[in-house]
Amino acid sequence: MSDCIFCKIVKGEIPSRKAYEDDEVLAFHDIHPAAPVHVLIIPKRHIATLADAGPGDEALLGKMLALTGRIAREQGSLEGYRTIVNTGRTGGQDVYHLHVHVIGGPRPLPRMIAKE
Ligand code: AMP
Ligand code: ZN
Repeated sequence: MSDCIFCKIVKGEIPSRKAYEDDEVLAFHDIHPAAPVHVLIIPKRHIATLADAGPGDEALLGKMLALTGRIAREQGSLEGYRTIVNTGRTGGQDVYHLHVHVIGGPRPLPRMIAKE
């Protein structure tokens, strides 16, 4: 997707502060952090929303979720974190390239981090 900002981050055309990378997945710090730790985990391959993922994406999605603990810990969120996947218009998704928000401490988060 040539006009997708997260695809541009994958290609290095837009800078990001990386937290993790392998051949399938990239994690980088959110540009407007909602908490001291706020990392986005994305697939390098363009998938627009979680609703567009299918059976062929199970391993990739599992990998993304299985990385959340490691990434949160490495960023200093040692006692847990919140994962959010906003999906579609109803879900308040702004960037249409699938991403898992990992939001964390060091202190407990407010009950909800809502969108304005
Ligand atoms: P969502 O509302 O779930 O689609 O979240 C999109 C997130 O992407 C927001 O938290 C933005 O702050 C973040 N974001 C947008 N552009 C960038 C960027 N260039 N680098 C890092 N994070 C970004
Ligand atoms: Zn994309």
